[in-house]
Amino acid sequence: MIEPMHDVAIVGAGPVGATLALALARAGLDMMVLDARAEGTTPRGDRSLALSHGARLIFERLGVWTPLAAEPDAVTPIVAIDISQARGFGSATLRATDVGLPALGYVASYVALQKVLDDAMHAAGIGVAWAQAVDQIDATPAYASLRRTSVGDALTARFAVVADGSGENVAGITRVRHDYGQVALIADVARDTPQDGVAYERFTSEGPVALLPKGDRYGLVWTMTPARAEAALAMDDRAFIDALGMHAGARIGRIVRVGPRRTFPLVLEYAKPAALPRVAMLGNAAQTLHPVAGQGFNMGLRDAFELARVVIDTPRDAIGARAMVDRYLRKRRPDRAAGIAFTHGLTRMFGSGLPLFAWPRGIGLAALDALPIGKRAFTRAMLYGF
Ligand SMILES: Cc1cc2nc3c(=O)[nH]c(=O)nc-3n(C[C@H](O)[C@H](O)[C@H](O)COP(=O)(O)OP(=O)(O)OC[C@H]3O[C@@H](n4cnc5c(N)ncnc54)[C@H](O)[C@@H]3O)c2cc1C
Repeated sequence: MIEPMHDVAIVGAGPVGATLALALARAGLDMMVLDARAEGTTPRGDRSLALSHGARLIFERLGVWTPLAAEPDAVTPIVAIDISQARGFGSATLRATDVGLPALGYVASYVALQKVLDDAMHAAGIGVAWAQAVDQIDATPAYASLRRTSVGDALTARFAVVADGSGENVAGITRVRHDYGQVALIADVARDTPQDGVAYERFTSEGPVALLPKGDRYGLVWTMTPARAEAALAMDDRAFIDALGMHAGARIGRIVRVGPRRTFPLVLEYAKPAALPRVAMLGNAAQTLHPVAGQGFNMGLRDAFELARVVIDTPRDAIGARAMVDRYLRKRRPDRAAGIAFTHGLTRMFGSGLPLFAWPRGIGLAALDALPIGKRAFTRAMLYGF
């Protein structure tokens, strides 16, 4: 039987893959990390990642929170979340003080986070093979084989973890996809008063609009149809600000400036199954969620942290084998299933323009606001998982 070349191969050193690599750094394993990026670059434009308090705890344990928080404007605390619906009664405010924390979560810059994680991998002595795209991953009973056309050979590992953001190149794993038929328009906006740590989530008949505190401004995530997005991208700043004010209402305050705008399509996509013997999907490759509840990235971090624990607890020659993979899937199943169902359910419940739904939505929001026990349980699920 062929002896695999490595214990673990991580495909993609994005925020989730790098988190796994750091969590495994001291396990004494032969680990190979590959990324299509050139060293020191983050080819994607900057985006705002919604980090929960639980994500902060993971980064603290890995020693990356302090350097991240020291970068100017890299993380902005969210001290409260104001949830409301347009054209309907009921609203709820979740506060960090209700759960005894300094912040419910943070808005982090993708570029700043990636730089801190890259530096941490370097400092931990984790060798990353930069500019090496993996084009195909196949599982055999004894190892995973990773093909790189740019290099021309395949490498093997007891266990391959695919954290490349798409998971498209893995044999034997189906991708379930639901297209919401909508896009998210994102832009930085400024109000006439500085942001005060409150995030706004406003549900409208076209879908949610969110404003997340970011430096001294807000990051806007506005869900809309592709046709409306085309028109919104073509508007001048004044017309766009007026349209946003009309759509989201007075609750979000008076917007006075908007930065460059761009859009991305909204889909729910997940790998089925999330892992097979010898190969597991992680982060966006495992599940890409609608951004409505800010859960996608946080779930990816929880996957990475739990997977590292399972790998560390497994004897070396059993790494990647069915028993280990089944243990990982069992541990992550409840959080993953609930996170996907919750996020998808919210888009259905709050994305509907039917007046019939306005009442139960309003009652739900009013009840959430009025019942301290329910509110604390809901907030805890948002912070630490389901
Ligand atoms: C346009 C857009 C906007 C978003 N905005 C938000 C937001 O506002 N808030 C929020 O919380 N989340 C947002 N998200 C989601 C968020 O970006 C993801 O949750 C997060 O990036 C997932 O991290 P990841 O490490 O799994 O994947 P990624 O961040 O996609 O990282 C994947 C890594 O794998 C590497 N790679 C890719 N292909 C290969 C290959 N074949 N071989 C080797 N390496 C490869 C890449 O270079 C990259 O370093 C957005 C996503 C998109 C697409």
